[in-house]
Amino acid sequence: MRTVRLFQETWPLRTPFATARNRRSEIEVVVVELEEKGIRAVGEATPYLRYGESTASVMAQIAAVLPQLERSMTKEQLQQTLPPGAARNAVDSAMWDFAARSCAMTVGELAGVNLPDPLVTAHTVALAQPTEMAAAALALWKSGVSLLKINLDDRLISERMVAIRDAVPQATLIVDANESWRPEGLATRCQLLADLNVTLLEQPLAAQDDAALENFIHPLPVCADESCHTRSSLKALQGRYEYINIKLDKTGGLTEALALADAAKALGFKMMLGCMVCTSRAVSAALPLAAKAQLVSLDGPWRLAVDVEPAVGFSSGRLLLP
Ligand SMILES: [Mg+2]
Repeated sequence: MRTVRLFQETWPLRTPFATARNRRSEIEVVVVELEEKGIRAVGEATPYLRYGESTASVMAQIAAVLPQLERSMTKEQLQQTLPPGAARNAVDSAMWDFAARSCAMTVGELAGVNLPDPLVTAHTVALAQPTEMAAAALALWKSGVSLLKINLDDRLISERMVAIRDAVPQATLIVDANESWRPEGLATRCQLLADLNVTLLEQPLAAQDDAALENFIHPLPVCADESCHTRSSLKALQGRYEYINIKLDKTGGLTEALALADAAKALGFKMMLGCMVCTSRAVSAALPLAAKAQLVSLDGPWRLAVDVEPAVGFSSGRLLLP
């Protein structure tokens, strides 16, 4: 018989973090621990209000399947029992961790992938005034970070991006608008970003406005985040997006995420691997996907004031595995 523990944790951020959607000083995560035959494994998920999730709702979803989980639920059964989202991710991650620990492997080894070396990750520049964002970008560049993910909202697009590009002329820039733009004027904004040599634009429009992405030739690749959850999302993204952002909290864990990555590749999509703000537990669970991604954005734990032990490290724009 498996012992299952389900609990919530609060982790403070290093500095308050702002996006187009909200401003936060701490995060709440949901944790599932599995223990059987002396092996203890863990899975973590970050509930996301954008997808109708709260800590309470995710805990309730998992609590409802605890009896099955304590008996002998498999990963395959889990996929049929819980919908994609944070709850399934916490359980699926714990199951992968348990399977890996049972054979003294990492989750990446168990998934049969070789991780890129070095493992370069984007670091996020939070939404702020143009001069503050440019200063944050320059500080990252000076610390050795060459891949920056810039959070924007619907204001000061040109002011912010010109200031940042002036500060870090050599950096690779990804822009994430977090659904804050409107279809009107989108093509002009895309051209502005392309002229500033921005590499990728993530989710400019609200997911329901995606059709507007078909109306012009993209001068830079556009990446689906909020519009892409699982394999069932892919059909609607064709002709609208060139990249997808895979996150375990959206797919409901690594099991679907690996299938999504393969299906997306077969359809010609490129892939970014992302995460919510999270501890190193959630980053470790997502690592096997780094082998399949063109861009990795796993700086969630870097934004925390404290992290779990053992933690992934961040040095000169690289992820250091514990
Ligand atoms: Mg995003």
